[in-house]
Amino acid sequence: MNLQLKPKAIRAAATRLRFRTRAFIDGQFVSAQSGRTFTTENPANGRPLAQIAACEAPDVDRAVKAARRAFESGSWSRRKPAERKRILLAFADQLEAHAGELALLDTLEAGKPIADCATMDIPDTIACIRWHAEAADKLYDHVSPTGPENLALIVREPVGVVGCVIPWNFPAQMAAWKLGPALATGNSVVLKPAELTSLSAIRMAELAAEAGVPPGVLNVVPGLGETAGQAVGRHPDVDMVAFTGSTEVGRSFLKYAAESNLKRIILECGGKSPQVVFADAPDLDTVAGHAVGAAFWNMGENCSCGSRLIVHQKIKDKLVAKVVALAKTWKVGDPLDPQTRLGALIERPHLEKVLGYIESGKAEGARLLLGGRRILEESGGYYVEPTVFDRVGGRMRIAREEIFGPVLSVMSFSTDEEAVALANDTNYGLAASIYTGDVNRAHRVARAIRAGTVSVNCFSEGDLTTPFGGFKQSGFAGRDKSIWAHEQYTELKTVWMQLT
Ligand code: NAP
Ligand code: MG
Repeated sequence: MNLQLKPKAIRAAATRLRFRTRAFIDGQFVSAQSGRTFTTENPANGRPLAQIAACEAPDVDRAVKAARRAFESGSWSRRKPAERKRILLAFADQLEAHAGELALLDTLEAGKPIADCATMDIPDTIACIRWHAEAADKLYDHVSPTGPENLALIVREPVGVVGCVIPWNFPAQMAAWKLGPALATGNSVVLKPAELTSLSAIRMAELAAEAGVPPGVLNVVPGLGETAGQAVGRHPDVDMVAFTGSTEVGRSFLKYAAESNLKRIILECGGKSPQVVFADAPDLDTVAGHAVGAAFWNMGENCSCGSRLIVHQKIKDKLVAKVVALAKTWKVGDPLDPQTRLGALIERPHLEKVLGYIESGKAEGARLLLGGRRILEESGGYYVEPTVFDRVGGRMRIAREEIFGPVLSVMSFSTDEEAVALANDTNYGLAASIYTGDVNRAHRVARAIRAGTVSVNCFSEGDLTTPFGGFKQSGFAGRDKSIWAHEQYTELKTVWMQLT
């Protein structure tokens, strides 16, 4: 289904949707063995959407066994890379044919604006599967420079059974960031979506099967983190877990690995990304546009959210006035309305957490310039106005902790050293933006900031060709996207031959 971004068409398509609510294991939909389900709701109105199979350890075990069988059979793992490419390209075509449906699923379950899902999330999801598919038969192994008596091959092999545990903020896209490289390199996957957003992942597995991904190669086990997520982390026959989510839960996966089979762990975690604006920034209207996008896109529920605006004191008031004026124009409301820029926050507890941070900002003495309130309460949904705090001190909670909501903290500096020190004054290191007209300053500061992606004169995470991941407590041992993602889903093997 392709979606016309017109209110009537969107509503009609939303009422026609049919949800897949069971686990997808070994090429089939199955209920949880306990028969239990959990409710997923629409954050735009707080009403239940569907009952989803609540997978637990026995279901995860069943999925891991299916994944292992598939891996050992060679139906995928030993297939020619060019054939894996062909099937994954067909998977991408299937996603494209159902793009409107997938966009609606993410909008309904995550409260994300339909315009974002339809023009960014789902197109990026499709492009991601395509990019990794196309790379599948373009990677060469190595021959090492031995003497003439030997031949040493250095080859890459799939790791085996890969557990993927993902968050709710970009449900389809986060699945694609893992599935693309994990499947392209020949692994079998057990994917545990976030309990708040299971629908698009389940549908993606069905579409993959229709495209020819063999049974057992891609399994989806919806369920709660404590049960299904932990079971993936502790399973003795899972070779690797690729996790995206909070730093706190990421830490648990290192523990699970240590206490089970030393499975490989890749973590993509939280952030508190700085946007540093120097006095020579070329055009403050452009900067304000990026700064507002960085702070409020996806309701600030974005790991690389530019939640700290660090501005040279000479231009601070001028820039902040532009930021506030622009943020006021971002329409907050029904995620199904194509004009909406900020939809609903994911769930009531998260809404309360974000409002708690806003209260802490006020209590700790920051100056509230814009927003700060829950709105549209009568809808039953979880909406918060774009919120801007000025005069934020470096020790305040809103300057240090990941809020994951539409809250921007403004701080100021007077020297480059001070700017870099403020930018780096965080346990996180996922992304950063710097704005300057001086190319030397741009390079100097880009190198000095400890973050996985530094953008200059824009807010960007790069594209599929660039690795994405964090320094410090924003990540561990890996990167999503690009060819570097392929490496992490492979084992390095040496085959040493004595020639006679
Ligand atoms: P989360 O609470 O850490 O959850 C992530 C995943 O882990 C979910 O599937 C979750 O299941 C599962 N989980 C929770 N507790 C678990 C446990 N004890 N054992 C095993 N698994 C467990 O994160 P979230 O709230 O969904 O997402 C927001 C976070 O993701 C933010 O910190 C954000 O910065 C980060 N993020 C990072 C990136 C990146 O690329 N670096 C991208 C997007 C988001 P449940 O859903 O049942 O809790
Ligand atoms: Mg959670």
